[in-house]
Amino acid sequence: MKNRSIAIDGPSGAGKSTLAKRLAQELGFLYVDTGAIYRTVGLAACRRGIDPSDADKVVPMLPELTITMGYGKDGLQHMFLDGEDVTRAIRENEISICASKVAAIPAVRAFLLEMQRRTAQEHDVIMDGRDIGTVVLPQADVKLFLTASPQARAERRYQELLERGQQADFDQVLREVVERDRRDTDRETAPLRQADDAVLADTTGLDLEGSFQLLLGLIRERVDV
Ligand code: C5P
Repeated sequence: MKNRSIAIDGPSGAGKSTLAKRLAQELGFLYVDTGAIYRTVGLAACRRGIDPSDADKVVPMLPELTITMGYGKDGLQHMFLDGEDVTRAIRENEISICASKVAAIPAVRAFLLEMQRRTAQEHDVIMDGRDIGTVVLPQADVKLFLTASPQARAERRYQELLERGQQADFDQVLREVVERDRRDTDRETAPLRQADDAVLADTTGLDLEGSFQLLLGLIRERVDV
C-alpha cells in the first residue's frame, strides 16, 4: 500500500513544527522537519566561513558533506553532519539566516530533494517546510498552508528564544521574520507559496490547542486516519 503523506508549508514561526510534531504523534506518522535539513547545510557553510549566499562557494562544498537524518528513542528527528549530532547547533539564531540563504541556491535544493522524497516513500509522513506541497510531494494526500500575521509569528519566536535562555530583542526578531519571509517568497527556485490545492489555515489569535484542533479537523476531513 502506498504510504500516506501530509504536507504542511508556510512562513517561519507559523507553528508548523510544533503542530506537525503533535499531529504526527496523534496519527502515528513520521514527522519530517525539512527546515532542519536546510539548517544543516547552512551550519556547514557558516562553520567553514563560507558566505551562505555565494553559490560559487556553497555548491562545491555539497559533495563533501554527509548529511543524515535519524530518529531517536524519543521519536524526534536528529540531524547529523559528518556523523556529529547537530540537532541543537542548527537552532542557533544566526543559523536561521544562513539556512534561508543557502536555501535560495537551486543546487542546494536539488541536492536535498531526493532525501526528502525517499523518506516519504518509506513512511507515512507529515512533512513541513516551504515547498513540500508544490515541489517535494506534489501528490501529497493532504496539503495545508499554515500562516499567521508577522507580529504573531515574531512573538512566538521571541518567546521560544527566551525559553531557551537565549538573548532576544523583539524588534530585531520581527525584522528577521519579515526579512526571512521576503527571501523565502522572492527566491526564484521553489519560492514559498500556497499550492493551488492546499487548504489555508490561519492561526493568528489561536493558541496551540486551537491550532492543533483546526489542523486535525482539516486532515481528518481529507484522509482516513
Ligand atoms: O523551517 P525553518 O525555519 O527551520 O527553515 C529554515 C530555512 O530553511 C527557512 O527560512 C527556509 O529558507 C529554508 N527552507 C526551505 N524549504 C524548506 C524548509 C526550509 O527553503 N522546505
